[in-house]
Formats: sequence, C-alpha cells, structure tokens
Amino acid sequence: MGLDRGNRDFRMPARLHWAWHEPKRMRRLLTVEDHLLWSYSMLSVSREAMQRMQGGETNPFPGGRTKAANILMSKYQDGRKNITSLDRDDALAQNGSHVCAHFGCIAPRYHMDHLIPRSRLSGDYIPLNQVRSCPRCNTSRGNGDLMGWHRSNATFPSLGILRRYLKLCYFYAQRNDCLQEPVDEAVASGLPFEPRNLPRLFPPVQVLIWDYAYPA
Ligand SMILES: [Zn+2]
Repeated sequence: MGLDRGNRDFRMPARLHWAWHEPKRMRRLLTVEDHLLWSYSMLSVSREAMQRMQGGETNPFPGGRTKAANILMSKYQDGRKNITSLDRDDALAQNGSHVCAHFGCIAPRYHMDHLIPRSRLSGDYIPLNQVRSCPRCNTSRGNGDLMGWHRSNATFPSLGILRRYLKLCYFYAQRNDCLQEPVDEAVASGLPFEPRNLPRLFPPVQVLIWDYAYPA
C-alpha cells in the first residue's frame, strides 16, 4: 500500500514477528476453556518473567515457561485462581498513549476495532471489546479472527492486548455456557472466536511487548 507513504503523520513501528508453530509435546487441550486457560497461563508466566528481567533479575524460568504454565493452569482449572475482571485493563487503556493497539502505529486518526469481531456477535454487545486501531491495521484485519490475523501475518500481539482478548473470550464463553464444550463443537455452533488460533507457544521473553501504549 503506497497510501501512507509520504504521510508524515503516519508511523509504522517495528512489529513483533513470530513464525507461529505448535509445541512438539503439549498437554491435550480439548474444551474451549482448556485453550483459553493455557494461553492465559503462558501469558501470566511470560509477564512475570518479563517484569523480573526488566527489574534486573535473571530469567526465573531458564528451562522454559511450560512447567510453570502447567502448574498455573491447574490452579485456574480447580478454582484456586480465577480470571480477574477487565477493570484494570480498561483503566490502563484509558490512560495509555493514543497509538494503534495492535502495533503502536501512529496515525492522524484512528478507528475503533472490535477484538471479537462485531460481525460475529449477531447483535450481542460486549463491553470493553473496542481498541484504538490505525486505519491500516483495521482494514487489513477486516472481520477476521484476531489471532488468525496475527498468524497469517506472522506477527504476535502485545501481551496487554492478548490478555484483554483472552478475558473477553473467557467471559463470553462463560456467559454463553460453552466453556466446557469441545472446541470443535463450540466453533461449529457459532463461537465468535477461534480458540485453536490462540498461541500455545510464546516468543522469547526478551522480545515480547507488554503494551504499545506504555513504551518501556
Ligand atoms: Zn496499526
């Protein structure tokens, strides 16, 4: 697209490139909840590692994050831990700088992009489902599944957006009583997101981006 070239107001920062692939050995994920909790657990463990390393500590999971994520996932599964509300995510988004949530692009104006596509919600309203998006990212994604879009572009979302998305998906499935459904059945019955597109493996901690609206 030559459209934005020469437009001084538009800046496209470096994206986090990630050649998506699946782990060789992996716990079996069957239900919608399994997929969501696995990604959420990997995210939490990655975030912890990121924070500790930014604080000058060594990587707390030198042998990899999988073991810690497995332990954490069990806590979510048996109710020792719960997915927290979106209040904090919302507050962070409201106070952050005005950049494209997907890659931190700077544009003269922004669109609001629905993390779970509105076109798939058949009129169902989901609070806090909108993020600021530059026109280019919004147009490129269209009505596509958020993680499907990242997969086809070989990019990885910021952890802040991924966390928000996972929570939205989790609460949606909870409200619609399909957390325990096998993922293929739930998708066939019209689940508005694709749990099998969620990341199982995450990029190395050193390259992860927490939130484009809060540059480190
Ligand atoms: Zn963008």
